[in-house]
Amino acid sequence: MAEQRDHALLLRSIAYSDSSLILHCLTQQHGRISLMARGARRANSPFRAALMPLHALQLRWKEPRTGTMGTLLEVQRFTTLLPEPMMLAGQTLLATASTLFPDGVSNGYAELNQACALLSERPEDAGLCAATWAMLEQSGWTGDLNHCWHCVEPVDLNHDMYWRQGHLLCANCAKANGFKLHSGFRKTIAAFMLQPNVALNHEHITLWKLMIKDVFKTHQMRDSVE
Ligand SMILES: [Zn+2]
Repeated sequence: MAEQRDHALLLRSIAYSDSSLILHCLTQQHGRISLMARGARRANSPFRAALMPLHALQLRWKEPRTGTMGTLLEVQRFTTLLPEPMMLAGQTLLATASTLFPDGVSNGYAELNQACALLSERPEDAGLCAATWAMLEQSGWTGDLNHCWHCVEPVDLNHDMYWRQGHLLCANCAKANGFKLHSGFRKTIAAFMLQPNVALNHEHITLWKLMIKDVFKTHQMRDSVE
């Protein structure tokens, strides 16, 4: 029953019994963990004020004798990851991170931090796309914008590509099936991932959102088949 200490981000907390919370956290060194925060819903609990999502936290906890759920001993809250007006968009990122980095994975902490950084520097609507896109790529649900995700051939940013069933395809693999992505779109998105001051128009954002939705849909269908 060793004690552990780590930097963490709170993904979600679920009410348990009369006064406690079950926490799901992404930690820097210990991957995703679940912790019991006893009495955390009581008005005088020191956990209550400190346990906030979208803030840098430092946790100390006791490892379980059996099972996987540790017991929270101490929590310290540090800086916020997002400016106040973006907290709602941040909740969307938390839900996405919870899906992409499930129990048992060792990553997610750095990825969620980076996603929040991408969002905080960009206009909210397009920034949320960029942040989600980065997490999708890091969790392996998508590839990069410079390759066909089927044959893995590099495709120059000056060429058109195709989008089909959650995948970015070269002209050869797509065989003219799927939605044509003009080179300008891919160039703009690639630049925006690196530079916050790249202007995206309404069509870019609408299309990007549809692609992201499509990636989730494709994976959920695959998961339900398996
Ligand atoms: Zn291809």
